[in-house]
Amino acid sequence: MIFALQNICTLAQNEFFVWVKDFFSPSAGSPWSILLIGLVLCVAGFMLTQIVRLAFRLDPLTDANLAAEISDAFHEAGIAPIEPRVWKARGRVANVAIVGFLPGNQLLLITDAVLERFPRHELIAVISHEIGHLKKKHPLKRVLLASAPLLFLFVDLFSQVGLHRMLADSSIPLAEFAIVIGYVVYIDWLSTSVFSRMEFEADRFAACNATDQPNSQRINDMQAALRRFAKICPAELTKKGGPHPSLAERLIRLDRLFAEIRS
Ligand SMILES: [Zn+2]
Repeated sequence: MIFALQNICTLAQNEFFVWVKDFFSPSAGSPWSILLIGLVLCVAGFMLTQIVRLAFRLDPLTDANLAAEISDAFHEAGIAPIEPRVWKARGRVANVAIVGFLPGNQLLLITDAVLERFPRHELIAVISHEIGHLKKKHPLKRVLLASAPLLFLFVDLFSQVGLHRMLADSSIPLAEFAIVIGYVVYIDWLSTSVFSRMEFEADRFAACNATDQPNSQRINDMQAALRRFAKICPAELTKKGGPHPSLAERLIRLDRLFAEIRS
């Protein structure tokens, strides 16, 4: 314990940590620099679609039948269709994702690997999972849950008597980092609990019909798609990647929907 405390005290003298400590200290300048960083991040977030368009090689979807089927899937969910684009990743990435937060400024990205290797019904199942996220307002909820504490911390940063000032004046080594560490712990908790649950909800949406009743054909399609992802990237079968539960966990949850049909 004493050894650990000594190490922490030595760390607190390190140049980098002194810089971070100054940055987070309640000086007149730091809240404004943090506000500026926050604004830049917000603008980048809202311009994500434009950034992705510039950064990646995206082609229009040339298969008119598939485009019509995708459009139908959006209409069935009562959501305005999002423009599908094929991401030419030279077969290195197998993924489908909706990019952007603002309606009318979003893209449905389908990588070339998914387009080539997934049968039509499995591809529609994966796209339905993405539509499920939109239907349940997951992107908005994710942003609000991740940024709400930042808003509190920002108000605290401008305050003369806030938590931030209390920690900065504390004699405990590295106390200033409590806020940053607390936020990292919070984001980790969000990822492993709330955001993971959203993935199961989106899977359920893809496996149910319009009246939220599990449908065996749709469950089969979703499971087949997940197994295909596992075949392409076997590590994903058991690996938990941030907010994404492992493919095995998702398959088990989908199995439970069969039981729901039988009961
Ligand atoms: Zn998802």
